[in-house]
Amino acid sequence: MDHAVAVPPLHTLTVAGRHERFPVNRVFCVGRNYAAHAREMGKDPDREPPFFFMKPSGAVIDASRDPAVPYPRKTANYHHEIELVVAIADGGRDIAVADALEHVYGYAVGLDMTRRDLQLEARDKGRPWEFGKSFAHSAPIGPLRRACDIGHPANGAITLTVNGQARQSSDISKLIWSVSECIAYLSAYEELEPGDLIMTGTPEGVNAVLPGDVMQGAIDGLDGIRVVVSQGHVEEPRRPA
Ligand code: MN
Repeated sequence: MDHAVAVPPLHTLTVAGRHERFPVNRVFCVGRNYAAHAREMGKDPDREPPFFFMKPSGAVIDASRDPAVPYPRKTANYHHEIELVVAIADGGRDIAVADALEHVYGYAVGLDMTRRDLQLEARDKGRPWEFGKSFAHSAPIGPLRRACDIGHPANGAITLTVNGQARQSSDISKLIWSVSECIAYLSAYEELEPGDLIMTGTPEGVNAVLPGDVMQGAIDGLDGIRVVVSQGHVEEPRRPA
């Protein structure tokens, strides 16, 4: 087929122990899905319905191949958010909670990197979060582990260190909305498709990183992620609070 302009790249992720790669379709992200993180963002952690924002597929970095995360333009407060990532194998709409895990291909450790200054400015003005959340290279993700190999993790430590110092530490059992509930809820609004990713939200302890910082994330039972913030476009970056 002839195309009128250059064909956009397909972004893919490594599958641990397999030669085939996972093609990334859309990236759905859950906001405020751990109570302690909702509180640190100044919000009430009551169990209100989940809400979602999206990143483009081009936000995804296969961290096992490319461990560099460029410091983005137009921010002075670049934050880490360690998250459990769910990869969808089979799509569908109006998926029942009881059936939701049958649609999962696998799981990985990922980072929802955030231009916090831009996100909070948008939030407080009632504007979309795109510039704070939905930019290139903002989703470094480790290798996927297939659900047929490891099952469906429902509890276990989720941690992030920066330069070896603890920053985020929680347990995925503290998700306000479980993986099954997120899939069911989301599929009522949007038909899920193969290749979709769901980033399930971050626990407390989000903070700033600077060029040269080494971030190491882990979730029990999954392959860890190790990435380095590379010199991108720094304009007086803020030190960690
Ligand atoms: Mn997040």
